[in-house]
Amino acid sequence: MTPAPVPLCDIQAQYQALRPELDAAVLRVLGTGQAILGPEVAAFEAEAAKATGAGYAVGCSSGTDALILALHAVGVGPGDEVIVPPFTFFATASAVARLGAKPVFADIDPLTFNLDPAQVAAKVTDKTRAVIPVHLFGQCCDMDAIRRIASDNRFYVVEDAAQSMGAEYKGVPCGTLGEVSAFSFYPTKNLGAVGDAGMVTTDSPELAARLKALRVHGSEVKYYHKHLGYNMRLDAIQAAILRVKLPHVPRWLAQREAAGARYDKLVETYQLHGFMRRPVAKADRRHVFNQYVVRVPAAHRDALVQHLKDSKVGVEIYYPLSLHLQECFAYLGYRPGDFPAAEAATREVLALPMFPEITESQQARVMDVCATYLRGRLRSAA
Ligand SMILES: *Cc1c(COP(=O)(O)O)cnc(C)c1O
Repeated sequence: MTPAPVPLCDIQAQYQALRPELDAAVLRVLGTGQAILGPEVAAFEAEAAKATGAGYAVGCSSGTDALILALHAVGVGPGDEVIVPPFTFFATASAVARLGAKPVFADIDPLTFNLDPAQVAAKVTDKTRAVIPVHLFGQCCDMDAIRRIASDNRFYVVEDAAQSMGAEYKGVPCGTLGEVSAFSFYPTKNLGAVGDAGMVTTDSPELAARLKALRVHGSEVKYYHKHLGYNMRLDAIQAAILRVKLPHVPRWLAQREAAGARYDKLVETYQLHGFMRRPVAKADRRHVFNQYVVRVPAAHRDALVQHLKDSKVGVEIYYPLSLHLQECFAYLGYRPGDFPAAEAATREVLALPMFPEITESQQARVMDVCATYLRGRLRSAA
């Protein structure tokens, strides 16, 4: 009998588990006739602010739009520089460029994949307006060091918390570690909508008011436009879905952490630790494993990915090309070799199946498939 496939992520598991409540929430919104913003979104914002510990939460249309709104709200625009990691999802840097500002890349810490504060410090100029610490894969950046550089040089900290709702730094949740923070509710994130959705958090009432105006064409009073804003609103149906799921997030995060710990053990059980480097979780922070990303020698990475695919095990490469080498950023003038840690990561990483409901036997299957790859290689080398 061939073993059952293991998906990279299982979105349907959450729907099936909460189906009656989710269906009822959607129908309730359909009955109100209020499709965009309104009381459902306001209720979600209040609940999400409480859950993240932020003073204010402003719902919006996606994580990408949350970044654009956050950067715009702190005044990022043409002539400004914003320091970002090159090893992240594209939107971190594209949001900066979309506002007419210049993304300035700073290399990552090869152990955590997150921004290296020393590299950030080296990129500060008198044009630096903000830094975007991306809490990649579910673990917070070195926030004390990054915040110190930002406050010494008087620029903003805009968190990209898209992958890390619930992650903590020294006991403090992300979303409250900078002046303003962007979250994504893309379906595979720690809290997932059934389409695109996002949120910006802040403790500043002024920034919250500006964010709320910016997402509706820059108007506080309808048809009177204070700012040149956007249409970046959150739909009521998405808010209703998110309200049903939000109370379950702590349990899902605990399940992700437990699954991460099981993988860590299984790497040893299957004697893969000489070949596969496990994620490094720093002692002073809580890693919530939106992704379980390992490193293998570059010479093996693509063949292992193919072997996993052939064995019906979900796998993905986050991310195969560093952002400073993307075609659309050629005008910035970067070259291969500019960010060695990020470039090495793009050649060595792979993400294994990770979702709250993943079982130990599914994870054992994943590691067994990795182990058969390695045994096959060792045999053919002998
Ligand atoms: C998912 C993600 C985004 C963008 O979120 P969308 O909701 O897909 O627009 C931004 N940054 C990071 C790091 C992400 O993982």
